[in-house]
Amino acid sequence: MRVLVTGGAGFIGSAVCRRIIEATPHHLLVFDKLTYAGNLDSLAPVANDPRYSFRRADICDRGAVAAAMQEFQPDIVMHLAAESHVDRSIDGPAAFIHTNVVGTFTMLDAALEYWRGLDSERAAAFRFLHISTDEVFGALGATGLFREDTPYSPNSPYSASKAGSDHLARAWRETYGLPTIVTNCSNNYGPYHFPEKLIPLMILNALDGRPLPVYGRGENVRDWLYVDDHAAALLLVATRGAVGETYNIGGRSEMRNIDVVTTICDILDEIHPRAAGPYRQLISYVTDRPGHDLRYAIDCSKIERELGWRASETFETGIRKTVRWYLDNEDWWQAIRSGKYRGERLGQFTAP
Ligand code: NAD
Repeated sequence: MRVLVTGGAGFIGSAVCRRIIEATPHHLLVFDKLTYAGNLDSLAPVANDPRYSFRRADICDRGAVAAAMQEFQPDIVMHLAAESHVDRSIDGPAAFIHTNVVGTFTMLDAALEYWRGLDSERAAAFRFLHISTDEVFGALGATGLFREDTPYSPNSPYSASKAGSDHLARAWRETYGLPTIVTNCSNNYGPYHFPEKLIPLMILNALDGRPLPVYGRGENVRDWLYVDDHAAALLLVATRGAVGETYNIGGRSEMRNIDVVTTICDILDEIHPRAAGPYRQLISYVTDRPGHDLRYAIDCSKIERELGWRASETFETGIRKTVRWYLDNEDWWQAIRSGKYRGERLGQFTAP
């Protein structure tokens, strides 16, 4: 099969791409604009494989999207490209509306034209998988879980833009028959995570002996999923999921933010102790984010029951692997800190 992955140079997209090349016989085209969040270093483990190709382009560019589809002839489109950082969406929502809403519309519009041109056998097998977040459901109180039929109630510009894109994917199925599937996933963590996000930020600040900033009192609860488990789930949904369906994906690992941070501190104390004392001393509470959702928790029993997927990592095993990965891969994150990952790599493109 031939798989086109948008956002394949990002955190989750690169995990999907590494899995495609390492664990399947599929051919891959990565379609990515390489914003600050896109990093070709994350694709380095698979970039020399003859089944891998890369195209630098914008999902809002209808001509570029259409050309990539015509030339590559995908059987599956996995759409992950997005602006993804909630704090950035509060400071500058315009880019989120443009990429997440207009970009997803452009992807669906171009995919529809491409799909209509396929012969009946290939058209019947074609899938457009739209990857989204559980944040579209809003916030939970102390109890309850997000299910696939939970009403949407997004609270941040990021989650509102993702909610809009989910509705578009659904509408293109209902209105035009395009074989779309939507997934909504909880917080991911793991290797190659951009250092602005909670877990890598805490690991790298701790290694530098800098404060570990925790919003409010750290009481916000998130469900955490190891990124490779998410990548496995997405490939399963893309190949075996039912058209027109939505699947929730989660790790069954609910944690308060403060417990995430203290767990990282305790692992570092064990495997990388510092002379100045326990890492927990670096924790510093900062003013809470506006509209900060208290709790997200996801019911992922549908994908477990219908597709036989299950997360293989618990938070305890996954976070240990993650901390170890950041200790062992300083070159990767130092290149981001120095800006080298953008400066030197932009010339490396291959045609599909
Ligand atoms: P990321 O920010 O790490 O990567 C996004 C990628 O998209 C980058 O490679 C970037 O260059 C690319 N991109 C951005 N704008 C683009 C554009 N206009 N055209 C082409 N490429 C563009 O994001 P991520 O954390 O890997 O998330 C991937 C997807 O999964 C997103 O759709 C996100 O909403 C969703 N998601 C993320 C999480 C999470 O915990 N990170 C959880 C659930 C769902």
